[in-house]
Amino acid sequence: MYYPFSWFKSVGLLAAYLAAFGVFGWYINEFIATLAIGAVGLLCWNYWQLYKLNKWLWHSKKMSPPTAVGIWEHVYEGIYHLSRRNRKKRKELGELVKRFREGSEALPDAAVVVDEHANIVWCNRLARIELGLRWPDDAGRRIDNLIRHPKFIEYFHAGNYHYPVEVPSPANIRKIFEYRIMRYGEEHLLLIARDVTRVSQLEDMRRDFVANVSHELRTPLTVINGYLELLPNAHDDGSMTGKALSEMSAQTLRMRNLIEDLLILSRIESSAERIYENTVDMPKVLSTIEIEAATLNQDRHHQITFHIDADVELFGVETELRSACSNLVFNAINYTPSGGKIDVFWQNHKEGVRFAVRDNGEGIEEKHLSRLTERFYRVDKARSRKTGGSGLGLSIVKHVLSHHNSRLDITSVVGEGSEFSFVLSDELIKTRDPLSVQRNS
Ligand code: ADP
Repeated sequence: MYYPFSWFKSVGLLAAYLAAFGVFGWYINEFIATLAIGAVGLLCWNYWQLYKLNKWLWHSKKMSPPTAVGIWEHVYEGIYHLSRRNRKKRKELGELVKRFREGSEALPDAAVVVDEHANIVWCNRLARIELGLRWPDDAGRRIDNLIRHPKFIEYFHAGNYHYPVEVPSPANIRKIFEYRIMRYGEEHLLLIARDVTRVSQLEDMRRDFVANVSHELRTPLTVINGYLELLPNAHDDGSMTGKALSEMSAQTLRMRNLIEDLLILSRIESSAERIYENTVDMPKVLSTIEIEAATLNQDRHHQITFHIDADVELFGVETELRSACSNLVFNAINYTPSGGKIDVFWQNHKEGVRFAVRDNGEGIEEKHLSRLTERFYRVDKARSRKTGGSGLGLSIVKHVLSHHNSRLDITSVVGEGSEFSFVLSDELIKTRDPLSVQRNS
């Protein structure tokens, strides 16, 4: 129980003690000597109390303090009170940790906590089962020594944890896990691994199905197209048959474009080609696109200007980048009313190198912008069909850019035009011509 300590009482007691010695000393005519004996006695008593306190603190197994009087009683009570409070706090903390552990054991995902040196601090039951971690044997061991898949190691050391990565489980390679890392506290990392085997199988099946169907459709379509081209009046000559044949030719062409785009898309999606294995000569790629654009532009009469200012050697997949850039340029040609102005830029940028296509067409309403890269999404279906578009162009661009760690930026003002651009980061640049940097700065 706490009761307030009174200095008055303590000083009063001390004064009474010394006064008693003083009076006795004065009575026997040895005032100083008696007072000194009283003071030494007081000192010894205090030392004795200190000794008892030390013994209680360090050697006693008893929680309750020894009996004492005066100021020492208060000291003992204070220490006892503090230790009881600490015990209560520790108990509460222990309960909290227990509840947290129980909660994390109930998680449907494997969870591992690692410190700043990549050493395992803690893991839950699922991490032991699914990732094959042993507890407590693996406590303090490096996580990258236990999950050794190159994809995981690359992801773990890259330090960019905005996106998850899918890697087979170290305990069972038939199971695919999605690893997600989050930073928390002081340099600690929380690793969450989720079983996505089923999703990944379905995704593979979908990809294979689209690729197979597109591939299978290509042959009959080529045959139909071949025969249509052989027919003498495949051009619309006003007759019913001519009209039908001309429409059939146009539709087979559309279907062929659609299948080609589907095949390109599934090839990019399942591409295992590493972007750092090959280099791309972008100015050369863009000059071929310029020639193709001029052919497409013959009956549209746009003023197309290519501004190729960055001379960099770039890591990447040439066919993919060619496909992305040409889609953006051809879209600008197709969706800008005749006689428009189109500018294509390939320039140095503070974060790498930037490609942009700017047109002064009709522009796109804000509500469509976030959906443009969805498969088969079109702003104006009828118009798109007329241009022969498959609705997959921007989807292809999105996948190519994601493969090259970039993303498509679209800005558009209705009535003024649109700009489609992307930045390829410095990491993709193998060498940069210093002269081209000077020219641009
Ligand atoms: P499509 O094959 O139909 O062209 P895309 O995926 O390439 O499909 O484009 C999706 C839609 O985005 C198009 O249908 C069109 O409405 C719109 N779009 C793309 N580029 C432009 C542009 N430069 N100006 C205006 N609209 C555009």
